[in-house]
Amino acid sequence: MSERAEHVLVTGGAGFIGSHLVDALLDRPAVRVTVLDALTYAGSRANLSAHEGDERFVFVEGDVADTGVADRLVAGVDRVLHAAAESHVDRSITGPAAFVRTNVTGTQVLLDACRAHGRPLLMVSTDEVYGANADDDSLFAEDAPLRPRSPYAASKAAADLLCAAYHVTYGMPVTVVRGTNAFGPRQNPEKAIPTYVTAALDGRPLPVYDRGRQRREWLFVTDWAAGCLAAMDRGEPGAVYNIGAGHELSNLDLARAVCAGTGADPASIGFVDDRPGHDFRYGVRSDLLRALGWSPRVAFDEGLARTVEWYREHRSWADEMRVAATR
Ligand code: NAD
Repeated sequence: MSERAEHVLVTGGAGFIGSHLVDALLDRPAVRVTVLDALTYAGSRANLSAHEGDERFVFVEGDVADTGVADRLVAGVDRVLHAAAESHVDRSITGPAAFVRTNVTGTQVLLDACRAHGRPLLMVSTDEVYGANADDDSLFAEDAPLRPRSPYAASKAAADLLCAAYHVTYGMPVTVVRGTNAFGPRQNPEKAIPTYVTAALDGRPLPVYDRGRQRREWLFVTDWAAGCLAAMDRGEPGAVYNIGAGHELSNLDLARAVCAGTGADPASIGFVDDRPGHDFRYGVRSDLLRALGWSPRVAFDEGLARTVEWYREHRSWADEMRVAATR
């Protein structure tokens, strides 16, 4: 490292997207990364095993809502990439309190630490803050109203708006990305694609909500992480960038694609009761992010093939994450 390395704090770095952000950052020669992660049921040190022993990488187990920890870590870095969150919509329906604490209070605590130390923050938000699209081809641009419909989405919208407010009120360099559904290796098996893939590989029925009518846009996680870094590197402070441009399909077609990719019998697709308030469709425009030079590189089929291969080779990882989720 000849030039001075930029030091980035990645919150939630032991989770799915966070660990891919760490990979992408440490791919750069002149970067150091500190991860702050509470290692909830959704986080795993195994997700960062490629970096253990790298002198440019430090892991800190701790809570983003802990003022002392946040302040100490933010003081020692150049910038913050905030991906820590309670992230599963179904869990937010049965227990919203943890979502308000981590997603809202945790973001406020980090923003205060960034304000105290003059550090820029990139907030990893979600397209779910917009609510559901109409049942047509419409897409949300960044100036669309926020109409969250689940406790998860509402907590992310609150955090997202706190970022906007800190930018306006204190002039802080805060940038927000609102991403579509990501998929790929290391995604918690409670989420749709790993649920389908691991069921298909285990020979179990694929549990599809309702009749699988809901539509989602899917973007491979390395493209998703690249979108975050494009906004971090070249985004305008105070701006919001959607990360979309994924592949849209119904959940039933997604389950069929997983059957095709794993060799499972499509007859193993089964239907389960719908999630309350289940958003029919999300879709976002990504013109602003594309104007920063970002575009997706991995086609859906290729991403799905890579994902299936990863879960085939990491059966015990998925089993361990499932056990952690019951604790
Ligand atoms: P994830 O559940 O896989 O990982 C979340 C990580 O945050 C875990 O490692 C967990 O241990 C950590 N964490 C939870 N509470 C914490 C706390 N109080 N303090 C410190 N760490 C804590 O989630 P993900 O799917 O990787 O999502 C990452 C971010 O991206 C989240 O902010 C989420 O809202 C956003 N997002 C995800 C998607 C997606 O498709 N996965 C889409 C849009 C936005």
